[in-house]
Amino acid sequence: MIRNLLYKVLFLVRSWLDVLMRQEVLFYLFLAVLMIPNVILSITEPLTTLERISSIVFPLSCYYLIFTMTRRLGWSIWLLCPLSLLAGFQVVLLYIYGKSVVATDMFLNMVTTDAKESKELLGSILMILSVVIILYITPLVLATVSLVKKKKLKKGFLRQNRSIAFAVTLVGGALLWMCYAASDAYSIKTGVYPINAFYNMFKAVSRHDMLQNYQETSKDFEFNASSSHSAQQREIYVVVIGETSRACNWELYGYERPTNPMLKKVDDLIVFDSVLTESNITHKTVPMLLSAASSVDYDNIYSQKSLITAFKEAGFKTAFFSNQAHTQALVDNFALEADKKEYLKDRSKDMNFNPLDTEFLTLAQGVINEGAMKQLIVLHTYGSHYNYSARYPKDMAYFTPDAPYTPQKECLDKLRNAYDNSIRFTDKFLSDIITMLNGIEDAHTSLLYVSDHGEELFDDEREVIFHSSTIPSYYQLHVPMLVWLSDEYRKAYPSKSLALEANSKLQVSSSASFFHTILNVAGIETTYRNDSYSVASKAYKVRPRCYLNDHYESVPLLSLDMSDNDITKLSEF
Ligand SMILES: [Zn+2]
Repeated sequence: MIRNLLYKVLFLVRSWLDVLMRQEVLFYLFLAVLMIPNVILSITEPLTTLERISSIVFPLSCYYLIFTMTRRLGWSIWLLCPLSLLAGFQVVLLYIYGKSVVATDMFLNMVTTDAKESKELLGSILMILSVVIILYITPLVLATVSLVKKKKLKKGFLRQNRSIAFAVTLVGGALLWMCYAASDAYSIKTGVYPINAFYNMFKAVSRHDMLQNYQETSKDFEFNASSSHSAQQREIYVVVIGETSRACNWELYGYERPTNPMLKKVDDLIVFDSVLTESNITHKTVPMLLSAASSVDYDNIYSQKSLITAFKEAGFKTAFFSNQAHTQALVDNFALEADKKEYLKDRSKDMNFNPLDTEFLTLAQGVINEGAMKQLIVLHTYGSHYNYSARYPKDMAYFTPDAPYTPQKECLDKLRNAYDNSIRFTDKFLSDIITMLNGIEDAHTSLLYVSDHGEELFDDEREVIFHSSTIPSYYQLHVPMLVWLSDEYRKAYPSKSLALEANSKLQVSSSASFFHTILNVAGIETTYRNDSYSVASKAYKVRPRCYLNDHYESVPLLSLDMSDNDITKLSEF
């Protein structure tokens, strides 16, 4: 019985392989597989009808022509191998984010995301990866077999299809010309896959080069900073950069679940209601938070240093501790500026080593115990990044069940429980820092916290999870930002605490304001500090909201192709 079934399956597979090995079938099959991203993107992208049609016909004509150049189809398929791999990557991203061509930042993420993080994500999208491998690797295998067996397309088939390919190319060229004629804004670099994907790859290489040259291009930079505060007064400022924590899941921001049991008990905690980030990608947001650059002048970042250097120049002892892996991102260069630095993940070579953010408490206490008169401690956390349940200890799982899950809509309850537990753990971590700072006598102390960006959790009809999509959403943009000041600090600088409280109700860009606010709170004077961006100043000015797009241009936030739900929600803040 089983043997018979096995024979039938083998016979079926053999029959299918025989069909696929027919060169004419393989010809159309590979052509169809290459066109999958074009067909999906023609539906998902904000294009006119003419542009949608052109985005299919023009690339189809190019592939078609290449396929009809030689009878040895195996060579044609291998020639287009890079396009095959790119198409596979594009299909996976479309599955995750629901739209958008492979972005510049997505290429950069490949070199600035650590292997463990990638493993966590890849492990959770195995199904789509399997489909993509079958779709795009199988033709390569069949092409190799075709070459080995010296199989060729029939002469008549090739001649007929070459004629059709030329005709399609003429139509494709005409459509492209019509797109350019219809709109001045149209460009093949942004409107036609895979040209747009290669253009983004080119941009990513250029950005990567700028990153590689950062040490050289910033080496002579100085803030010429000094402190306006008393040299005899002890000051300790702790800056915490959160990860993937979105405001709408914080109880302090009206979330119905108890995710902030500790912080809500902290007297005089200043909670900023309407803070949006100007990027949804770590390697862009964190450098903007720590430097004078924001989306409007982002390229200045490659010739400047971070606030760590400003504090050092003003006489502070500085420390930078990270719970993220070493990458080639700007933040790793900023870390080098600190007097003392440590990456928690360096403590073990084990890929599964997973230190918790609370490990920072001992490190920060150690720095404080050194007793320097002026201290800055920057903590780059792992916060609420996927895999959520790995961001807190098992005994801190308050919302249950919080496992097992995969990042699928069917697991939403468990995903939300795990995500909320990670925020509850951040709540404990931040309140422990405040307790630590509050216990230091005769010192002006302060904690400044902001998350780098938010996260999607299957919130609306788009049904997406994670962040870093080319077009952001409300959920990725609205971030928590908190400032805590010691009583001694408040007494010494009442105007700053009053300004912080007053400005906490206003619209704020974390990317543009965080740097200037920290310098203002700490009394660091430099020409790079602009108090019209500082929420600790009466001079703070609300500005139109903007966003650093995938081509590193600052654009008005609402000019992005966001959903109606996002626009409605953003208008509430
Ligand atoms: Zn991040």
